[in-house]
Amino acid sequence: MADRVSFLNTHFDRMSLSETIDVLLGRLLKREGGCVYYANAHTMVTAANNPALAEALEQGDLVLADGSGVRWGSALLGTPLVHNLNGTDLVPALCKDGAVKGLSVYLLGAKPGVAEEAAANLAKACPGLTIAGTQHGYFSPAQIQKVLENIRVAKPHLLLVAMGVPTQEIWIDKYANQLPGITCMGVGGLFDFVAKRVPRAPQLIRAAGMEWLWRLAMEPNRLWRRYIIGNFVFLSLVMAYAFSLRQDEQTT
Ligand code: UDP
Repeated sequence: MADRVSFLNTHFDRMSLSETIDVLLGRLLKREGGCVYYANAHTMVTAANNPALAEALEQGDLVLADGSGVRWGSALLGTPLVHNLNGTDLVPALCKDGAVKGLSVYLLGAKPGVAEEAAANLAKACPGLTIAGTQHGYFSPAQIQKVLENIRVAKPHLLLVAMGVPTQEIWIDKYANQLPGITCMGVGGLFDFVAKRVPRAPQLIRAAGMEWLWRLAMEPNRLWRRYIIGNFVFLSLVMAYAFSLRQDEQTT
C-alpha cells in the first residue's frame, strides 16, 4: 500500500508498479475522480520556479516518482523512491488490466492526429478497452468549455492529458473539478510514443536509467536545455536541500 514521502517539498506516493495499478483501478472503477501526476527531475526543477505547478502537485491525489533522477536524489536524501512509475510503462499496463473490467479512457493532447493513432494502438494492445474519445492538445482558450463538455458527455473513467509539463498539470488542477467522476492523469509525451511518432529507448537503455539520454539524442534541439541545464539545476537543488537538512540536524 502507498506510503507518502516528501522529497524536495513534493509529496510522493511510494508504491510498486503492481500496487499503483491496483490503487488506480480501484479509484477509477469507483469513479472517485481526482488528479494523478508523475514527477521527474524536470518536473521538480520546473516546480521550483513555477508556483502554479507546485500548487498542482500539492493538490494531487497521487504523485508518482518518474525517472532515475528522482530515484537517485531521493535515495541521497534518505527517502528512497525505488520504483520508476513513468506513464509510458504504467498506462498500457493499467489499460490492459482495466480493459477486462470495463475501463474507458479519453485521450486529450499531442498534435492533431496523434491521439487518434495512440488510441487505436492502445485499443489493439488492450482488447476490451473502451476509447471514450480523443482531442488534440492545441485548442484555443475559447474552445476549453467545449472540450470539457465533450469529455463530460463521453464520461471516461480516465482522462489522459498529454500536453507536457507544466501545462498539463496546471490544466488538470484548474479543470478537474469540472469533470466529476473522471480521474485526470498528466502523461507528457505518452501519445507520441504509443502512436510511434517518437521511438522509445531500447529496454537495455531504460533498465540502465538512461532513457533521458536517448530522448536527448532523438530531439536535441527541443530537449538540450531540459536535460543538460535541467539536470545540473536538479543536482544543485538536491545538494542545497541535503545541506539545509544537515544544518537543521546540527542546530537541533
Ligand atoms: N502538447 C500539446 N499542447 C501544447 C503543447 C504540447 O498537446 O500546447 C503536447 C506535445 O505535442 C507532446 C506533449 O504535449 O505530445 C509534450 O511532450 P513532452 O515529451 O515534452 O512531455 P513532458 O516530457 O514535458 O512530460
